Amino acid sequence: MKKSSRRSFVKKIGLGLGATTLLPTLSSFEAYTTNLNLPSDKKLNIALCGLGRYASLLAESFKDTKYCHLAGIITGTPSKAVSWQQKYNIPKENIYSYENYDDLVNNKNIDLVYVVLPNGMHKEYTIRAAQAGKHVIVEKPMANTAADCLEMIKACNKAGVQLAVGYRLHYEPNHQELMRLGQQNIFGQVNLIECSLGYDIRDISLSDWHLNKELSGGGALMNLGIYCVQSNRYVLGEEPVSVTAQFAPKTRPDIFKEVEENISWQLNFPSGALCTSNTTSICGVDRFFASADKGYFELSPAVSYGPFRGRSSEKEFDFPVINQQAAQMDGMAKVILAGNDLPDHITGIEGWKDLKVLEAIYQAAETGKRIKIES
Ligand code: NAD
Repeated sequence: MKKSSRRSFVKKIGLGLGATTLLPTLSSFEAYTTNLNLPSDKKLNIALCGLGRYASLLAESFKDTKYCHLAGIITGTPSKAVSWQQKYNIPKENIYSYENYDDLVNNKNIDLVYVVLPNGMHKEYTIRAAQAGKHVIVEKPMANTAADCLEMIKACNKAGVQLAVGYRLHYEPNHQELMRLGQQNIFGQVNLIECSLGYDIRDISLSDWHLNKELSGGGALMNLGIYCVQSNRYVLGEEPVSVTAQFAPKTRPDIFKEVEENISWQLNFPSGALCTSNTTSICGVDRFFASADKGYFELSPAVSYGPFRGRSSEKEFDFPVINQQAAQMDGMAKVILAGNDLPDHITGIEGWKDLKVLEAIYQAAETGKRIKIES
């Protein structure tokens, strides 16, 4: 597997990475994912690290991919090693524990590790995979802090491997349409976006890592609100400049002891656009609405697994329902197999940008002040 030719992160900072930059429009995004001429028998050998709920969904999605093979697993649970080995026909030599994980360095039959562990473990397992010479996809949120994201990016650059974040919606046609409508000002300037995501998780086990600050990094914002921030940024093609935010009082302080149950925030963008969001752990909400000078566009359901329903002020959306996880893995695999650099908007750089915004939201809610977001 060809190593990444990505320019060093330090060099990218020097080239103005931190400045406000337009995210790629749909057409340039497609250039990364669809114009690669690859033989269909070439597959990226992927090992899933952490075999929980989302990893189980990813594992089932491999059958809908063309360029990905579930080649290995990393688990701390011996019974899962046995059941997954049988279910997915995984060779014994491609099964690792968290203890012998670094031995991946000697395994030429695994190209990439997909880290699907609790958020607070993403940094360690990404860096160890990079040091073993493996490309990495890490789930969202990329890490607990923006500083951790930077360490992960630097480690991957140093090892010459690629680092992607599991941002599945970049490969989903309704969201690609949102990017087109927003970034190309199809209905004029977007002035307001409302995007909210919530699930009722009040029956969550008290031992669940989502309630543990060290393992989760935070509550609903880290788990769900990140999708609202992402969609604001890729629809506007801008980076936010300031934020105000509020924690709502907890309805179940006995459960949400260490992390927030609900949070609302308002992001200001350089164009003047205002983005307001709520994310919550007490009820279901899943909607996106953008108001522009000459019309609107919306999705609801919007950022979950779908199927999505959308419309603009002109017409109903009519996009195919796809396997989001398969499309994401294939999209990333094609670029890596072709030996190209992944586009910035799905790499660690994107994960780092989101974490900077999430940290500012927390700071605004904690202080009650408007917080500037440095770009
Ligand atoms: P999960 O609890 O179902 O799975 C976590 C896995 O980590 C389990 O297999 C568990 O055994 C393992 N683990 C190892 N050490 C652990 C420890 N100290 N504490 C707890 N678990 C430990 O979680 P999940 O829902 O699969 O989430 C995993 C990651 O995937 C998270 O970062 C989450 O944000 C992300 N995720 C992404 C999406 C998406 O749509 N992209 C959806 C769900 C989850």
